[in-house]
Amino acid sequence: MHRQGVGHPEAAAAFLRDDERAAWHDDALWFVRQRRDRATDLPEWEALREAGSALKAHAMSRLAELLVEFERRATASGVCVHWARDAAEHNAVVRGILRDAKVKRVAKSKSMLTEECGLNSFLEADGIEVVDTDLGERIVQLAHQPPSHIVLPAIHWKKEEIGALFHREMGTPAGESSPDALAAAARVHLRDALLNADAAITGANALVAETGGVVVCTNEGNADLGMHSAPVHIVCVGIEKIIATLDDLGVLLRILARSATGQPITAYTTHVSAPRPGAAMHVVLVDNGRTARLADADMRSALHCIRCGACLNTCPIYRRSGGYSYGHVIPGPIGAILAPAVDLGAHRSLPFASTLCGSCGDVCPVKIDIPGQLLTWRERSATAGALPGGYATIFRQLGRLLSRPVSFARAGWVARSALRTLRTLRFIPGTRVARRWNPWTRPGRDLPLAPRESFREWARRAGRIP
Ligand code: SF4
Repeated sequence: MHRQGVGHPEAAAAFLRDDERAAWHDDALWFVRQRRDRATDLPEWEALREAGSALKAHAMSRLAELLVEFERRATASGVCVHWARDAAEHNAVVRGILRDAKVKRVAKSKSMLTEECGLNSFLEADGIEVVDTDLGERIVQLAHQPPSHIVLPAIHWKKEEIGALFHREMGTPAGESSPDALAAAARVHLRDALLNADAAITGANALVAETGGVVVCTNEGNADLGMHSAPVHIVCVGIEKIIATLDDLGVLLRILARSATGQPITAYTTHVSAPRPGAAMHVVLVDNGRTARLADADMRSALHCIRCGACLNTCPIYRRSGGYSYGHVIPGPIGAILAPAVDLGAHRSLPFASTLCGSCGDVCPVKIDIPGQLLTWRERSATAGALPGGYATIFRQLGRLLSRPVSFARAGWVARSALRTLRTLRFIPGTRVARRWNPWTRPGRDLPLAPRESFREWARRAGRIP
């Protein structure tokens, strides 16, 4: 669960207590990362990333102009365009549309924006049933959980657990955990929800200013089935999803699916630019803090994110701590730079939920400098006095030490000598101390014996430095 007020280290420790799940979660996401690597092994991949980065930067620099162009074209095609400053306005707009159309049941496809706005619970409090129709989202919805990953919402669930959930909620045979059988049961269950909904809500992967069209990508076809059957279609979308042209869309689609799931393209890519005859189509354009982020030059490029999830799949911290440990709707490295912008105090531990290995930045298809922004958030966190307990004092002392080469060399000599002496006297047997002090060494790695000389002393002795 997203547990506000609980820091990332504590929540990650709770996830890691289940060794088996933690190892399986790590393996499952690494598998997706490897698929991504194979799919992006194209001669033009770096050029595509450059183009993706440039088209998003271009769109953000003309955000107001492109949104107005989108609104003009969409309205001319019969689409009703609404603007919402924040989550509350977004929810009120959606509820207004549903009330006017006397909607009782909604089929909703994947949308992280509606998660961000808390739309499901808001509508349910109003007596409107919302069925999430993406399979992973339906699993977590039935379990009363939020998604733990932006592309793979139920990646933390094992098939046996899903079997037990479906047995309870859908009446599948007890003990059934075959993915094929469970998918078949889900298909029947979801098809009923999709075909009998009074309205469909979808997210959007892109808004194309040039056409006034909305682009939705899924692998399950659930968004398409919903929007093509229900008499009302509502698109809930953040304003940063705007792009200028169809040419830009071509680039976006090539980098999105490859980065997300290792596919050349998603199974269903739908471009809707007008309501069906006799049906209504609404687009709700939501700010909810995005223009404030745009005004922050150091962090602006976080708005370029196309929510592919590649940075989550590659991140050694995300893979080993699970999505809920981030306490934010968007987890992983991208969440760790988006969440502090929403509330630095509540999410002050997130900029530290990274090894700064740089892998997130390396895989990002729109070249967001995630490690650089994490560092900037660490600095801002320190300046704002929001560092987790003890960090400020430790880093202040460390900073003093690192800025004085002679003191640093002396401190290193003292630490190495103390460690060697304690090991020699068997006060700290390597394996035991390594395990007690550092859970990363739990599989049995030993604490190495401290060397007699520092790296700098060795390099000088070896004639590598003067
Ligand atoms: S930050 Fe980059 S890699 Fe991460 S989800 Fe967004 S686009 Fe994908």
